[in-house]
Amino acid sequence: MKWSKAAADQHDITVLRPEFPWYSEVSSRVTRNAIDDLDNAFKHFFRRVKLGQKPGFPTFKKKGTGDSFALREKPKFDVEGRELRIEKLKTRIKMRQRLRFTGTLNQVTISQRAGKFYASILVETDDDNPHAPEKEAVGVDFGIKSLAVTSDGAVFPENNTLKRNLKALKRTQRRVSRKQKGSHRRARAKLAVAKLHKRISAQRQAVLHELSDRLTRDDQVVCLEDLNVNGMVSNDKLARPISDAGFGMLRRMIEYKAELRGVDVSFIGRFEPSSKTCSECGQRHDMPLSKRTIECDCGNVMDRDLNAARNILARGLDTLGSDLKRTQELRKTIGLPMAAMMTA
Ligand SMILES: [Zn+2]
Repeated sequence: MKWSKAAADQHDITVLRPEFPWYSEVSSRVTRNAIDDLDNAFKHFFRRVKLGQKPGFPTFKKKGTGDSFALREKPKFDVEGRELRIEKLKTRIKMRQRLRFTGTLNQVTISQRAGKFYASILVETDDDNPHAPEKEAVGVDFGIKSLAVTSDGAVFPENNTLKRNLKALKRTQRRVSRKQKGSHRRARAKLAVAKLHKRISAQRQAVLHELSDRLTRDDQVVCLEDLNVNGMVSNDKLARPISDAGFGMLRRMIEYKAELRGVDVSFIGRFEPSSKTCSECGQRHDMPLSKRTIECDCGNVMDRDLNAARNILARGLDTLGSDLKRTQELRKTIGLPMAAMMTA
């Protein structure tokens, strides 16, 4: 039989669909995708034959590996808040997180990996366009009571589900150690630990994506503390929820999102006790972890983390100021546009 996409589509409609009535319970794209994919595979096969390359005849896909289908036309799917609607499906799918980009939705790909479903959504967006030229800067403190506090007073609360699961993980791990080695019960407890690890890792990613998204969306300059300076581990660092959520991963996310959006990021080393210094007058105070408010002789009374965020902003702008000046001078001597300098 000769391959023809039109014939395959026809076969799908006139033979397969009447034979398997449950096909019509799902979007017609599910089968049409398979036909498209096979058509592409044949096109590439014949191109390679023509060019005298190793042809590689299309092979059957194993069920269970890379199972997915895509909906490409907008009426077939839609996203509202955290809900995904796909055609023919009566229930709306609750998504783990909101879309992080604004713009036109071009495609959704539903896939299954290790028994879990994933939706990957293609968005045509202008979000990576540089911001308006006026520079707004923000300082961020990774607090003790919350995940982050910014110098303009925004508070990012700790994720309670993540917190709960981290506690559950500790409990489950203890359970493993109490079971006899080599026993079935121990194997079962170990499986529970592995499952929890997987869930926690997905939650961490979602939390950090949202935080890094928000921090690089509204401001032109973001100043943060680098918590990974010379591998320092102190009680004060461990007390922060961000250390549970993974600061290293957050840093990478902030860096790539900032680059995408043309935002300047300044990571400052922890050479200065940002939470112990009054952000108004610079006076040092004794600030044990239990003390939530800084009260200074100058009249400044402020939430501990907000005060720290303001110090971080000031220090970050200092650091960035000298860097920006250097970049501008360099630009003058080489005559490159600013954007090119930043990526070079
Ligand atoms: Zn003061």
